[in-house]
Amino acid sequence: MNQTTTTAPASAAYEPRAYRQLIAGQWVEAEAGRTFDDFNPYSSELFARIPAASAADTQRAIDAADEAFPAWAAMGARARQAIFLAAATVLERRADEVVLLLALETGCAAPFARFQIQWAAGLLRQAAGYPYLPGGEIVASDTPGVFAMAVRRPLGVVAGISPWNGSLALGFRTVVAPLAAGNTVVLKPSEDAPVCAGLLMGEVFHEAGLPPGVLNVVTHAPGEVGPVADRLFDSPKVRAYNFTGSSATGAQLAARAGAKLKRIALELGGYNPMLVLADADLAYAVDTAVFAAFFHQGQICMNTRKILVHRSLYAAFLDRFVERTSPLRAGDPADPATRLGPLINDRALARVQQGIDDAVARGARRLTGNAPRGRCVDPTVLVDVPPDAPIHCEELFGPVVLVEPFDDEQEALARANATPYGLSASVMTTDVWHGVQLGAQVQAGMVNVNGPTMGGEPQIPFGGVKDSGWARFGRWAIDMFSDLNLVTVSQAKRQYPL
Ligand code: NAD
Repeated sequence: MNQTTTTAPASAAYEPRAYRQLIAGQWVEAEAGRTFDDFNPYSSELFARIPAASAADTQRAIDAADEAFPAWAAMGARARQAIFLAAATVLERRADEVVLLLALETGCAAPFARFQIQWAAGLLRQAAGYPYLPGGEIVASDTPGVFAMAVRRPLGVVAGISPWNGSLALGFRTVVAPLAAGNTVVLKPSEDAPVCAGLLMGEVFHEAGLPPGVLNVVTHAPGEVGPVADRLFDSPKVRAYNFTGSSATGAQLAARAGAKLKRIALELGGYNPMLVLADADLAYAVDTAVFAAFFHQGQICMNTRKILVHRSLYAAFLDRFVERTSPLRAGDPADPATRLGPLINDRALARVQQGIDDAVARGARRLTGNAPRGRCVDPTVLVDVPPDAPIHCEELFGPVVLVEPFDDEQEALARANATPYGLSASVMTTDVWHGVQLGAQVQAGMVNVNGPTMGGEPQIPFGGVKDSGWARFGRWAIDMFSDLNLVTVSQAKRQYPL
């Protein structure tokens, strides 16, 4: 990952700011001026005051997106391209400020913040080419004189629902492909990151010259998603959904979308295995495991959750892994020296602690980790976790990893696949083609031979299988957010049987 600068701005100078929602190109308060407080997960200080959207606010956003749709869909490729390129420039110009916002709102330390900015700018620049992609195909017709075309058309209004964790990258991913395909968007960010997963996307695109109503952002208070979601899922004007979040919420929203026969792109949770084969480069496997398990304090859908190590390497792997992991400490994400920040909120802290305590109570051994300091949890390595412990196959979404030995690769494969999820996996081996063959048997949307489960670039077909969802990003996202319509032209009068 390239870092353009090495220091994050100091948090001390930061003044909490009152934000507004973006509806029809205007920055507006929520109905009746309602707001909620958005807190810094590290210090618990006020970070920002955010509009608390109502059903009526959401309806206004949907109406604005619906009204803006025909002109946006008809806008020429050059004009649309210029907006995506300008958005990338705006984001990069604001990079230092965004690093601070990510730290203060989401507990994101500078290395992941810089990665997200670079990733999102790349996504925007790649999307700038989408308006010039072929808009369809000529299809052979068996009817004499008939010229048939399969034409890509945007859907209309797409509702985007974004998570808090990779807030900047995923907030942009939630809106960029639908917009690039010619749709208009209502974005509803997570209540834990209304700025970095939502309002910031609005600010960047607004400054980049996106026409009014093409992107609207509504923000709701914790516990108040109901009325906002009801409008988004009940409105006939909303034609599709782009959801990134937990599998439980995704399943619920897929049922709602399905009831109205609408499509929904789902990017969900993961329980990502790393297989360290007998011939792996031990030192590299350990370095990869430390990064993949603990980056962003284990709050990335692709973090490695379980490391399966061939028994011949198991003891040496564990020694080195524990030695590398023990000194790592979570701390103030606004300090440029910090590599790992806090968990996002008290619910996450309780879930992670409960998962560790439960596993230990069932007989697991904890080789690293300390008592939490505030919401800071240090990287935790567990071994001997019994199969009946929920964290044996369920996503804890924190800095906790299980390590297990295996004797036989088929056994390792079966254990890697013994989870409802299927997002990402990695295979560490010096026999690359063997790694590819074994990796092909792992039930995961993304397999990395000699690389971390954790990574991803904007252009890859990012996505999972099983309970990890079915969406695919990169240029494949255009298919998810457009229809393929048939248009025929009869070049001569046709003969009919009636
Ligand atoms: P979450 O499911 O709690 O929330 C995600 C979004 O859904 C938020 O905007 C939230 O407000 C919204 N939401 C929750 N209940 C809703 C409802 N009833 N109606 C409408 N919207 C609702 O997930 P989270 O805690 O924000 O994110 C963490 C989860 O997301 C983890 O499971 C992680 O693995 C997953 N994730 C997946 C990917 C991916 O690309 N596959 C990326 C990031 C995160």
